[in-house]
Amino acid sequence: MSSLAKTDPQIKKLIDLEEKRQAEVLEMIPSENYTSRAVMEALATVLTNKYSEGYPKKRYYQGNKIVDDIEALAQERAKKLFGVPYVNVQPYSGSPANTAIYFALLEPQKDKIMGLTLAFGGHLTHGAPVSFSGKYFKTVPYELGRDSRLDMNAIEKLAIREKPKIIVCGFTAYAQIIDFKRFGLIADKVGAYLLADISHIAGLVVGGVHPSPVSYAHIVMTTTHKTLRGPRGAMIMVTEKGLKKDEELAEKIDKAVFPGLQGGPHDNQSAAIAVALKEASSPVFKKYAKQVVTNSVKLASELTKNGFDLVSGGSANHLILIDLRNKGVNGSIAAYALEVANIVVNKNGVPFDSNPPFYPSGIRLGTPAITTRGMKEKEMKKIAQWFAGVIEEIKNERFPEEKEARIQFMKGFRIRTEHNRNLQKIAAEVKALTKNFPLP
Ligand SMILES: *Cc1c(COP(=O)(O)O)cnc(C)c1O
Repeated sequence: MSSLAKTDPQIKKLIDLEEKRQAEVLEMIPSENYTSRAVMEALATVLTNKYSEGYPKKRYYQGNKIVDDIEALAQERAKKLFGVPYVNVQPYSGSPANTAIYFALLEPQKDKIMGLTLAFGGHLTHGAPVSFSGKYFKTVPYELGRDSRLDMNAIEKLAIREKPKIIVCGFTAYAQIIDFKRFGLIADKVGAYLLADISHIAGLVVGGVHPSPVSYAHIVMTTTHKTLRGPRGAMIMVTEKGLKKDEELAEKIDKAVFPGLQGGPHDNQSAAIAVALKEASSPVFKKYAKQVVTNSVKLASELTKNGFDLVSGGSANHLILIDLRNKGVNGSIAAYALEVANIVVNKNGVPFDSNPPFYPSGIRLGTPAITTRGMKEKEMKKIAQWFAGVIEEIKNERFPEEKEARIQFMKGFRIRTEHNRNLQKIAAEVKALTKNFPLP
């Protein structure tokens, strides 16, 4: 990056620092991953210079013959990999992709989106009141059962009563397998579209370690940068079942993405998606996906052995949600202290949470990124011990009730944790381990 160093040493330095940070921590936010060098090389190319409004062979700008080939290649690879007849690879990211799907199918203030509540692990775009999806459309929120798992009978009852136009399944904080088949039957029963938002689990679906929704959903959306390990971006797929329900569905999606919501596609992103899809169709990637789940299952069992209470009882995918209430610590404090120890997770609400979203009772973690680095079961055992060590250090921190007191508390907590010898010791051990597992 010699040109960057010359033109903007400030940004270059910050990027270097971020690269160092990513290398020296255990990156355990379940929506994050490390792309290959090949994906990053495709991103940083002249393709970012081009305007290509429209679709392959139907552009509003000249000079797109080569870009057409690139986007068509991305489309062909996605169709083959997921087994779908249609895909749009242009959405800038997952939230714009869901926006496009709603824009294509729903009438504002009239039609209903049925999605899992944010507090139970749904995404913002699944009808949360703070998101456009909850502001512009009517919503039918569903929750999890008392065991923190999907209660398909309750979901069916609600769908029959409320008649949503679209049912969304696929989540951001759910650690179990999703019964896409049952969701499909429910959608059919009430005449709804089923949108499977597999943003988190697309890599697992491709790797054959999570069932695919393609036979049961009408539309499948995924981000490309989570377990799929591509650049930031998203894809909207329409299935055979979707085309059977509505033969214009693909056209409606295309029109909603462009010109409905977006202008020119990010052609460098399309190229990088194509690269990631090629990588994801290799046997090596299948092995990777399998190891992601093996690691998560192992880590869940080791955490349980160390006295942690896991929401839904464990993990069957790439993700673990820890309910910290039995440890007397909240998620904000835990996430902060873990970062001091070089372990990066995010605070997260748990089902039936008694605490507010900014100070939730849980933390969410996952294995996609550390598995990309090559970590296996042996490392998971060690990581669980580090989690236990960190929580032990902070378990007596009393969190004040009042807002201003909380802000002051977090300031003091920062100083205390940064000077905590045991946390520093864990941080050094983590850093030493990461040296053996270089970034791609
Ligand atoms: C990450 C995610 C999205 C949104 O993706 P962004 O790229 O962050 O906009 C949508 N749905 C689900 C289920 C997700 O996990």
